[in-house]
Amino acid sequence: PELFLPERPNSKGFDLTDVPTLDAIDAARAPFRTTQIQAAPLLAKEAKPKPFQFVTNPYSTIDSAGSVAEASAADVETALSNAAPWDAQPSLRSQALNQAADLYEANFGKLFALLAREAGKTPMDTVAELREAVDFLRYYAARIPEAAPVGTFTCISPWNFPLAIFTGQIAAALAAGNAVLAKPADQTPLIAFEAVTLLHEAGVPRTALQLLPGDGTTVGAALTSDPRVNGVAFTGSTATAQRIRRAMAANLAPGAPLIAETGGLNAMIVDSTALPEQAVTAIIESAFQSAGQRCSALRCLYVQEDIAEGLLEMLQGAMKELCLGDPWAFATDSGPVIDTAAQATIADHIAKAKSDGRLLFQLPIPQEGTFVAPTLIKVAGIGDLEREIFGPVLHVATFKSDELDAVIDAINATGYGLTFGLQTRIDDRVQHVSERIHAGNIYINRNQIGAIVGSQPFGGEGLSGTGPKAGGPNYLRRFCTEEIPTQYR
Ligand code: NAD
Repeated sequence: PELFLPERPNSKGFDLTDVPTLDAIDAARAPFRTTQIQAAPLLAKEAKPKPFQFVTNPYSTIDSAGSVAEASAADVETALSNAAPWDAQPSLRSQALNQAADLYEANFGKLFALLAREAGKTPMDTVAELREAVDFLRYYAARIPEAAPVGTFTCISPWNFPLAIFTGQIAAALAAGNAVLAKPADQTPLIAFEAVTLLHEAGVPRTALQLLPGDGTTVGAALTSDPRVNGVAFTGSTATAQRIRRAMAANLAPGAPLIAETGGLNAMIVDSTALPEQAVTAIIESAFQSAGQRCSALRCLYVQEDIAEGLLEMLQGAMKELCLGDPWAFATDSGPVIDTAAQATIADHIAKAKSDGRLLFQLPIPQEGTFVAPTLIKVAGIGDLEREIFGPVLHVATFKSDELDAVIDAINATGYGLTFGLQTRIDDRVQHVSERIHAGNIYINRNQIGAIVGSQPFGGEGLSGTGPKAGGPNYLRRFCTEEIPTQYR
């Protein structure tokens, strides 16, 4: 069957409503259902062999997609001392990144299987992730800047988009001609290993791209506090970004750029004119898709008092329709959270709400896997949320018709500014709210997750990130300088 949709500016997707397409995806990923990957540092020079440890599968205690040997202090030193900017002609860099995009597509069966087994990604999430990764490669490949590279860039990524964000940072740094030291999230080294292997196969030299799996406090900290590093691209929590900034300030050149994309306390306002079915669909997708493990996910819903009772009843009905289960299955809407540590943190938060009598509704969950029950918690307002709860927990507040501006002020007062959603049929209100809300990405009358490379760049403000937005026209500039650093002259 014709697997991909017709040509368009962004990558070709899969039609998941088409049974032959599903069969073809199944056939492509089936050989990798039990594959074991051994991931190790990929350095410019051979590394000493090290012990491997199993990588967990969030859905199964008896399956693992493979094991990882983490980078040692000696590996970090090897990487730092052998890193060399990618001095190939811009057209050759572009060619290699495009070639990598083609290789990602050609290997989609393996990547598809790994995203389920290592990160608990459902097919729907996986398709979006693969496409975004490919889009980042092609988008930056088409926009290789004229300016000189900054030098050596450390790229540190989170587990929740282990292919797309990992690839996006690297692709931009490489497009600009930098040397990249890539530190994937501790939980998802296997996907990162496959991605870097494909990038090398596509022609990116080993001195320009090295992979250093390991945890944040050792490998991550070492790669952000060495003066030989000239810039850092980071995506993860706000607290980690602040730690990295302090380490950079103490050790790197004062001008070293930090591009940080961080957490959010994202809100949606539903007023009494909103279409209830549309609002409920948007709320379900925004709060519970990917088990709420998206930086863009909806954390605090404000519903206008007049419609709250009916809307919340519909919302609970829709929640009951969610299919929670094996991320491998096409029917699954939402899988487990990433690991037992995340599960325990979210469960504590829910337990506290329960003991305070604020639990509104909760779904039953499967026995196997690190699941957290999709949950509704009553709050007076977003100010009640002390921090980002990175899971399928939606906080719900109501507001009166004359309180809209107070709600906007409360949302802005959190200091975060990542995504924001509005459901209304009043045009003037769209204008009014959009002008006042502080958020990088605003979504009107739709869900508030997802972004599209090139047409809807993604990134926040305030505590949510430094900008420039990923997948947008300004991103690559931060990876460049007009001056060539001395050590590379
Ligand atoms: P995290 O901050 O715990 O870890 C992110 C990365 O930083 C990991 O690779 C980790 O090993 C590394 N790290 C940890 N401590 C470090 C240190 N001291 N020095 C250097 N590196 C260190 O975040 P996470 O749990 O992996 O990801 C979830 C978070 O990421 C959420 O807050 C989410 O909102 C955010 N996120 C933001 C975006 C965005 O685009 N704004 C996208 C995805 C995720």
